[in-house]
Amino acid sequence: MSDLGAIVFPSRVRRAAAAARAVLRTALDLALPPLCAACREPVDGKGLCPACWSKLSFITRPYCERLGIPFVYDPGPGILSMEAIADPPAYNRARAAVRFDEISRALVHALKYGDRLDLAPMMGRWISQAGRELLAEADALVPVPLHWRRLWARRFNQSAVLAATISADSGVPVAAAALKRVKPTAQQVGLSRPERATNVQGAFRVPDKAKAAVAGSRLVLIDDVLTSGATVDGCARALLRAGAANVDVLIFARVADPGRTSI
Ligand SMILES: [Zn+2]
Repeated sequence: MSDLGAIVFPSRVRRAAAAARAVLRTALDLALPPLCAACREPVDGKGLCPACWSKLSFITRPYCERLGIPFVYDPGPGILSMEAIADPPAYNRARAAVRFDEISRALVHALKYGDRLDLAPMMGRWISQAGRELLAEADALVPVPLHWRRLWARRFNQSAVLAATISADSGVPVAAAALKRVKPTAQQVGLSRPERATNVQGAFRVPDKAKAAVAGSRLVLIDDVLTSGATVDGCARALLRAGAANVDVLIFARVADPGRTSI
């Protein structure tokens, strides 16, 4: 009985603490107007003030059908970027909602480090719109996993949070257990393109118990930011090795130098 008490008691304390935090947060929400995630000015609605909203750069066609990199002019249907031809990724297609710039960086940071989970439905909706074609053909969404140590430190995986809202919008289920990060990789920030690829080599694996579900499936990887694409490429390689029929990529923001068109 005392053993059971020892097990039960800490979880009761945790629950009480969580409840107290929730009450406090609700009280703060009532007392303070919501702030713009980018400039921290109070806003009427949620997320962004009108000025920051107008600066957001949504990615629309024309773009490279493979990588989703926006073109500066329309080269005609089905034309791929030079990047896609010279260095084709393991994944099939990538789409992003917005360009990675000052405003989208602020949104990503607010979601990732600032605990602005309230931004996720808005960001997820934009991703769902950008990836409509990909989602229509998908069997499941696979959030890019964090290593358990980072997950423990951050308490949540921002890609999984976005995947949950995209799933709610699109009806495509989330297969969070399809992929595991088995190597605690260094942060990609500050690494060159080849260093990024080496950094994620062997970092992702499909667990044995997920292999049957992955085989033959059309999957869409979900992540917050795409820089060199090395992370999602590493994920796609692992899923394809396990027999996935197709792997596409959906991200919130991508670093997008205007794509040079092929000749
Ligand atoms: Zn603002």
